Amino acid sequence: MDRGFGDWPTRHALRNADHTAYVDAVSGATTTWRALEERTNRLADALSRKGVRRGDRVATLTLNSPQMMEIFFAVAKLGAITVPVNFRLSAREVAYVLNDSGAIALFASTSLCDLADAALEEVASVRIRVAVPTAAERAESGEGDYGDLVAGGDPERVERPVDDTDVCVIMYTSGTTGRPKGAMLTHRNFQYNAMNGFGFGDGYNRNDITISSAPLFHIGALGVHTLPFAYVGGSVVITEAFDPSSWLDLVAKYRVTKAFLVPAMWAAVAQAIPAAERDLSSLTFAITGGAPCPIPVIRALHAAGMEFTEGFGMTETSPSVACLQPEDVLEHAGSIGRPLMHVDYRIVEESGREVPVNTVGELCLRGPSIFVGYWDRVDATNEALRDGWFHTGDMAKVDADGYITLVDRKKDMVITGGENVYPIEVELVMYEHPDVQEVAVIGVPDDKWGESVTAVVALRDGATTDAQALREWTLERIAHFKAPREVHLVDALPRNATGKILKRDLRVTYTGSSSQVTR
Ligand code: ATP
Ligand code: MG
Repeated sequence: MDRGFGDWPTRHALRNADHTAYVDAVSGATTTWRALEERTNRLADALSRKGVRRGDRVATLTLNSPQMMEIFFAVAKLGAITVPVNFRLSAREVAYVLNDSGAIALFASTSLCDLADAALEEVASVRIRVAVPTAAERAESGEGDYGDLVAGGDPERVERPVDDTDVCVIMYTSGTTGRPKGAMLTHRNFQYNAMNGFGFGDGYNRNDITISSAPLFHIGALGVHTLPFAYVGGSVVITEAFDPSSWLDLVAKYRVTKAFLVPAMWAAVAQAIPAAERDLSSLTFAITGGAPCPIPVIRALHAAGMEFTEGFGMTETSPSVACLQPEDVLEHAGSIGRPLMHVDYRIVEESGREVPVNTVGELCLRGPSIFVGYWDRVDATNEALRDGWFHTGDMAKVDADGYITLVDRKKDMVITGGENVYPIEVELVMYEHPDVQEVAVIGVPDDKWGESVTAVVALRDGATTDAQALREWTLERIAHFKAPREVHLVDALPRNATGKILKRDLRVTYTGSSSQVTR
């Protein structure tokens, strides 16, 4: 039996005591592994005195901060469960997550207190509330209530019964296709996820420095580098907010070696690099995932001298599943690469039978980093986890060399005139048009064709094309049945807090219904 990820700071406090675990990017304050161990022991003890027990849910509604990582470790040490809540949700949605998870405690950033207050009006379960100061407040006047809580706990580690198969995080999915579901992730899931990450380029070790700028309530930022770096004893620079120019400053200042951002953030970095003239020589590996990355962005980052690659992951898979090796990226751009060490996959047709090479089917995954079910959602769990395989809802194909290409989400597929159209394929073609800033392709009900392919596009500033010209341009490059019958121009596409385009909102706008044609 293993004591789970709450043990990671304990080990590094023995082995790497004076090495930096976290840097607060705003104040420059550092936390060593020794200090992290002591602080997380204190916080665990303080929470235990307030009644937090094994299996209890402790929610965070916090901006990225070293404090947020301390909460994860302290809660894990108690065998309790952290529920990171997306702070870009509305008060009602936050209340939904708090009620759904039955959280008994809530840590909220001071700047999010209004949101927390409004949400808590509809929540009865939360009885412990702690304010976490913002980075500016911490730099100015210390840690406030949060600091008092930590100071009040015992610095010695108290042994608690924790099994590595215990759930330690309930992370809600992004809510791209429907209401967010609470994926239950265990200590063991995170341990194997950290090991899967050794397959990112040359892997990582305690000398590596990463930067966490994507929101830590999302599995991408938490699981691609932030927690895995804790597994190996590396260092993490944590920023409260993302701005491409300051991000480039921090990479140069701290000699960051590895970095993860979601595609929309990398697109902003790619645009900022030429003017910024920062020294990026320390950055030996950069990765994206969570949504398809436009190929021009991949090319731009390579042109800037970065080893940039794309990976695939999901909340339910803690998240790392597959990635391209840096040397493969340009040749195989558009693929998500080959699976990492501890992930088994197969691609199946509706009947559950495996499909041949180069044939599209549903991607199914198995292994020790795959979640154990959705919190309080027996039906959704039974639908997703069948015969030991997680049915991802993503359609994919694999070539003879084992490169997996994600085709699209099953729910987003468009059936037009009996032909299956995968919107991502159409979007990737349209992204090659120099005037296209962002594009989403959806199916709109159509009396004649069942559904018709519709593109919603935001053009770049100074664009000279129009909807009709763009439609014709696309028609020349793709099979006619895949080309959009209609192109709508908009200022910007609706995105969720992790930067994903909300196609269900677009479907409401363009068809008056969020559900696709029944099939
Ligand atoms: P919900 O499940 O609530 O609808 P979500 O699926 O967007 O939301 P996440 O778990 O954050 O929530 O995202 C996982 C999904 O993101 C994958 O199933 C896949 O559809 C998409 N995805 C992840 N990486 C990539 C990638 N490299 N290319 C294309 N799509 C990706
Ligand atoms: Mg999903």
